[in-house]
Amino acid sequence: MVPGCHARAQLRVAPAPRGWTSYAARDGEGIVTDTPEQYLARILELARPVESETVPLCRALGRFLAEDVIAPWPVPNFDNSAMDGYAVRAGDAVAGARLRVIGDAPAGATCVPAVKPGTAVRIMTGAPVPPGADAVVKVEDTDQDPGPGALPATVKIVHRVASGQNIRSAGEDISAGARALGAGLRITPAVIASLASLGVADVAVRIRPRVGIMTTGTELVEVGASLGVGQIPDSNLHMTAALATAWGADVVGCMHVPDSPDIFRATCTDLAQQSDVLVTSGGVSAGAFDVVKESLDDMTFTKVAMQPGKPQGFGRFKDTVFLGFPGNPVSCYVSAQLFLRPLLRRMAGADTNHTVVQIPAGSNWRSPLERTQFVPAMIIDGAVIPTHVQAGGSHLVASLAATTALAVVPAGQDDVRAGDSLDVILID
Ligand code: AMP
Ligand code: MG
Repeated sequence: MVPGCHARAQLRVAPAPRGWTSYAARDGEGIVTDTPEQYLARILELARPVESETVPLCRALGRFLAEDVIAPWPVPNFDNSAMDGYAVRAGDAVAGARLRVIGDAPAGATCVPAVKPGTAVRIMTGAPVPPGADAVVKVEDTDQDPGPGALPATVKIVHRVASGQNIRSAGEDISAGARALGAGLRITPAVIASLASLGVADVAVRIRPRVGIMTTGTELVEVGASLGVGQIPDSNLHMTAALATAWGADVVGCMHVPDSPDIFRATCTDLAQQSDVLVTSGGVSAGAFDVVKESLDDMTFTKVAMQPGKPQGFGRFKDTVFLGFPGNPVSCYVSAQLFLRPLLRRMAGADTNHTVVQIPAGSNWRSPLERTQFVPAMIIDGAVIPTHVQAGGSHLVASLAATTALAVVPAGQDDVRAGDSLDVILID
């Protein structure tokens, strides 16, 4: 029997496959494999939250909030001007009106004169709105020149303002006592700005999960070493370490071992003791020297209905979650995106979702019918295109550099045509 036909006959096809959760497939031997989402769910069952610590704001970038942050004050915390101009009573400030200027309100002013009928106060952006004023006329809408200059005796209004115009009201951003930021939020530069505006100098964050990384393969040499016959640089070690670091982990060890079970076991035992998560690359497939599979017989090795990244291993040694990724660099990259990122996020109390958008394909390519395909891709002119014309190639490590997204071709679709709408995972 033709193996492909046999596999196809075994498929249970969902009515309208969408995304990558549609159905579990069977391989040529009839073995049911997990969908990527089912496999992720099995991994996440092993996740335990990491503890919390308090760090200064300047060291919080990339960490995850351990607690909700409640606004101690409203933001803005006082009514202030959105423009450099003149604080007025809107009813006075009709086009052509001339108002007497009774004083200045610079940013940081602690005492500003009250605006009475027929008067105006020169005001700068961020300065408190004087009592009596209910609008600010920007300087460009008056007869005065912008920029430094003596306080004029009068100001002529060229364009009228409405009540409330150019005033930033206290609490319009967030009100006092409101939940400003939720536990589990990843601290980005934008979050730092928000925390700073709320006066949070020390932040309760999750500790960084400790990640150990082991690459396997006798053919691998350290990056920078000259290459002998049959040798390649160990790119997965650096890639996985970089991904884990970017996702907020503390990479506690990076080890390369040859395809020797004895060396693998000794290194693995040592690194697992120092790690909350141990990631291995290579040696989980059907090769005669697949050292990870051979050495860790108490872990689960399985097939996941995805391309690339079909052979996978996972399990727990004591307090360490083990993830065994295949060695092909694109397989390892996609596996990390789909399984390591959510695992680390779950341990940090964050949601495990990716940002997924629907974007039309910008070119044509093939996908395996019975598996969900995750194609390293880029978004150009509103369309998603693979970073390499061989969309499904799991060895295409050099062109991985252009990747900003993963185009998802659902199981059940073997042919992508330009214009097909695809789910696209945006890489963070
Ligand atoms: P494996 O999963 O061990 O069968 O390896 C599959 C393919 O990925 C082989 O061509 C390996 O040479 C390559 N490979 C394995 N590990 C790495 C690595 N750390 N860096 C780059 N390529 C690798
Ligand atoms: Mg190998």
